[in-house]
Amino acid sequence: MDDLRFGARNKRGDYAPNGVLEIAPLFVWPPRPLAFLRWLPGYFLPWNLLFFALGALWWFFLTPSKETMQSYHWTWMLWIWGRNMVGVFIVYGLIELRLYIRRAQGNRFKFNGKFPADTPSDVFWFKSQNVDNMLRTFGTGLPIWSAYEVFILHAWANGWGPWTTFQQHPLWLALFGLAIPLIHEAHFYCIHRLIHIPLLYKWVHSVHHNSVNPSPWSSLSMHPVEHLLYWSDSLIHLILPSHPLLLLYHLHVTGTGAVVGHVGFDKIETGPESAIDSHAYVHYLHHKYFEVNYADGSVPLDKLFGTWHDGTKQGDALMQARFQAKKARMNAARASSSAR
Ligand SMILES: [Zn+2]
Ligand SMILES: [Zn+2]
Repeated sequence: MDDLRFGARNKRGDYAPNGVLEIAPLFVWPPRPLAFLRWLPGYFLPWNLLFFALGALWWFFLTPSKETMQSYHWTWMLWIWGRNMVGVFIVYGLIELRLYIRRAQGNRFKFNGKFPADTPSDVFWFKSQNVDNMLRTFGTGLPIWSAYEVFILHAWANGWGPWTTFQQHPLWLALFGLAIPLIHEAHFYCIHRLIHIPLLYKWVHSVHHNSVNPSPWSSLSMHPVEHLLYWSDSLIHLILPSHPLLLLYHLHVTGTGAVVGHVGFDKIETGPESAIDSHAYVHYLHHKYFEVNYADGSVPLDKLFGTWHDGTKQGDALMQARFQAKKARMNAARASSSAR
């Protein structure tokens, strides 16, 4: 497929898609029903549908019985951890295998012209982005994800919390299910802004940002403190009436779903003339410029707080102006404190 029909490549070989990245037409006034209908399929396809399918698979076939989960016993807790590891290994591994190991589409649609494996770096353990990223993902990411899951499923099995069923509250659960990716994103925006505070950034979040050229295994490559904050969105299931199916969907949106921003390619080719949109460019820009796009544009928080980068030259100019203003503010503060 000719990617230059959809975007442009600079001298360094980095690819940028044409067009303007848009905030979802969800929380807008006046309402934009046509834009909403155009946006809607991309809300489900391809990613959220996949995560829902995984959540359903987990719930109907791969979750122990209620009686088993009523007490903390290591066998079922290990099972939860194991199945989550296998799930992530398969989903991330398949994307990695196709795009980064086999390099099935070369660097067509690839945001950063280089492949991380070709540029070893001292910032990573063993100088390898992949080894570093996988150790962090499986070393602390999956245990922390699974600990949240065990804790909340144990609460459900014992009837602790406002749990309900699809027979009792079908409409509420359907609406809650539809909102889960938005809830995840709003929560992520908040914790993400928090860990960009300079001290927390240095200690915690810089680990994730070591991957300036992200690839699938970068997705959950985080400091354990970030992992703890990251999955805390799942605690909402102990506050609002919920069902374990929604909990497992939510955990996949948060956990497996982290891959969405880190695919590194704008489109994943499926045939000579067909491809699926990755929706990865918004978060790629965050890895590139750090202080833009803290969320992915489904919730309008970046727009509201002036941190949205829409992928255009104007977006660049707005960002630069903001950075200059920040620098000027910091210089002024430094000058006034040294004058005192
Ligand atoms: Zn990231
Ligand atoms: Zn960040």
